[in-house]
Amino acid sequence: MFLRYLVPLTLLAASTGSAPADAQTAPAATRGTIALTFDDAPRGDGAFFTGSGRTRALIEALDRADVDGAMIFVAGRNAEAREDGLDRLQAYAAAGHSLANHSYSHTWLWQSEPGDYLADLDRTTRLLEDLPGHTPYFRFPFLDEGRTVEGRDALRHGLAERGLRNGYVTVDNYDWYMDALVQRAIAAGREVDMDALRQAYIDILLEGIDFYDTLARETLDRSPAHVLLLHENDLAALFIDDLAAALREAGWQIVPAQTAYADPIADMLPDTLFNGQGRVAALAHAAGLRPAREMIPPFEDEAWLEAEFTRRGVFSSAD
Ligand SMILES: [Zn+2]
Repeated sequence: MFLRYLVPLTLLAASTGSAPADAQTAPAATRGTIALTFDDAPRGDGAFFTGSGRTRALIEALDRADVDGAMIFVAGRNAEAREDGLDRLQAYAAAGHSLANHSYSHTWLWQSEPGDYLADLDRTTRLLEDLPGHTPYFRFPFLDEGRTVEGRDALRHGLAERGLRNGYVTVDNYDWYMDALVQRAIAAGREVDMDALRQAYIDILLEGIDFYDTLARETLDRSPAHVLLLHENDLAALFIDDLAAALREAGWQIVPAQTAYADPIADMLPDTLFNGQGRVAALAHAAGLRPAREMIPPFEDEAWLEAEFTRRGVFSSAD
């Protein structure tokens, strides 16, 4: 059951709030390592930032938090749709982050022919290959690695032929939906309690990390180098330094994405079609560890997140 693996959010919030002051200055990396990755860059304007302002804010926040080597997964279409798209990507690279491929059109593999899908991602390779910071990783949009063995294996083969490695995640989450909830609330004229929003973002992401780390320890008997899925959205630009501090306080060491991808699980291709929750869940599923439904945590759910934001008073009540 889910509850076995979850710390109640109320307890998590309480423990964060009551941590001794020196926990922030002398954190011990006792839990393991984790890398930060940001998908769909360069995205358009949001309620808090223009697209270019968000890139600047995210770079500054990562710098303040002393995070090096985050991996930025580029949707080529997003880069070409914006006049400053390539400049924004170069700004990430100049700040020490790496640029990787997230397809051109951001489509589902299961809805595509493998040949078309590969031609699409090749467009983004051509866009990135001359940029500094380019690194040969591919992340499947929607983490969709195909719904048939033939489609899955055609892509595994096609990526290998191109020298592209799978930019998998180990920790899935709905950070994109948290951001969408905020964008929608602001568009509707509701006020946002920024402290409540920050705490919700941090608590829910940390709970996701705990969930997948527990699953990893059951599957591998160890904590792998984790790769956290995030998006290049307003919430990341607003709170990534707070998230980094909370991760370190919880005992996580933040490492460059390429360091995390040196973990042996990078070479363990799961013999399953259950890849949409990331590499750890896929390996657990391939090992027959749990039924698939028990590998989807409750907070990867739109209704759950809406109720949780309401419970925490993130938005003023609608009138
Ligand atoms: Zn994406």
